[in-house]
Amino acid sequence: MPSCIIIGAGMTGLTAANLLQRDGWQVTVLDKGRGVGGRLATRRLSSSRADHGAQYFTARTPEFQQHIADWQQAGIVKEWNLSSASTTDITFQHPRYIGVEGMNSIAKYMAQNLSVLTNEKAITLTKSEAEWAVNTENGNIYTANHIILTLPAPQALDLLAQSAIALSPEHHLALTSIQYAPCIAVVASLHQKSLIPNPGVLKFDTGSIAWVADNFQKGITAHPSVTIHASADFSRQKLEEDLNTVGQELMHDLVQWIVPSNLQTMQVHRWRYSLAEQRWAAPYLALDISDSLLIGGDAFGMGNVEGAFQSGFRMAQFLFKK
Ligand SMILES: Cc1cc2nc3c(=O)[nH]c(=O)nc-3n(C[C@H](O)[C@H](O)[C@H](O)COP(=O)(O)OP(=O)(O)OC[C@H]3O[C@@H](n4cnc5c(N)ncnc54)[C@H](O)[C@@H]3O)c2cc1C
Repeated sequence: MPSCIIIGAGMTGLTAANLLQRDGWQVTVLDKGRGVGGRLATRRLSSSRADHGAQYFTARTPEFQQHIADWQQAGIVKEWNLSSASTTDITFQHPRYIGVEGMNSIAKYMAQNLSVLTNEKAITLTKSEAEWAVNTENGNIYTANHIILTLPAPQALDLLAQSAIALSPEHHLALTSIQYAPCIAVVASLHQKSLIPNPGVLKFDTGSIAWVADNFQKGITAHPSVTIHASADFSRQKLEEDLNTVGQELMHDLVQWIVPSNLQTMQVHRWRYSLAEQRWAAPYLALDISDSLLIGGDAFGMGNVEGAFQSGFRMAQFLFKK
């Protein structure tokens, strides 16, 4: 039976894992996080819930549309109707989808029949004649014929360097050219509803804040909460500063919609890799001479949740032929 270790339990890794497992492969997914999902992230605060990574996703490709239809039928995904949004620079003509219980619930659903090991950080990869071994920070070793890396490119480069795996000039160029914007994200639970108008989003082109979502209006929480994404420029500038102070500053810029006395609790998160600003056009790289080491992720292609799905989908299709 062919086997594969997939490093990263985000949308890319979980997509590839499900498809390979369905094709009869023995698949193990490792993730350094406490749970699955990566940037499909949802936080609980007091009695509310808030998406603090990806906010929604598109489905322009038929294979992703098919998956979404299945997830909708299973009650995991729903459409977020943003057609009444007053933000002018974003076209909401095609559907946006969200997890019914937050974006992370999609990852949990995708992971439910897989062998996923969390709190397992891969630190080196080694290749013997027939198989690969992944060594983790916990001292465990996992082996398989194939490996798929789905970490953000800078982290993949570090892992390859730690493993003394040499890259061809083209592969080196691909991985070093990928660049991500950082994002400081605030999630806050509120005593009462926010003053953000229907349908619950604010989008700004300049200033400290890029995006605000009212998670109550979004329909993922019964108790009011908001998500604030700082702009890429602001996040870059403040990335290493005290997060609580930065969070207060961002809340202050939103007093028109969230009055200070309405704030219940707040958490601030630093995403070093949020959206891929510079991407590589191909959906993945096949590194090893025998094509047994693949590298993919959202930055290969579209640079978003759908792009992550596409990358995972294409890597699985490539391996089906093995
Ligand atoms: C703030 C923010 C807003 C966003 N907004 C949107 C949006 O509205 N719409 C949209 O489509 N996209 C959005 N995105 C982008 C979207 O979330 C990503 O494109 C997509 O989720 C990436 O999936 P992935 O599987 O490629 O990577 P990830 O989700 O990053 O998964 C990689 C996984 O690898 C794990 N990992 C890393 N290193 C190791 C290691 N050494 N060993 C083991 N595991 C490791 C990580 O823990 C992680 O779980 C947003 C992202 C952020 C952060």
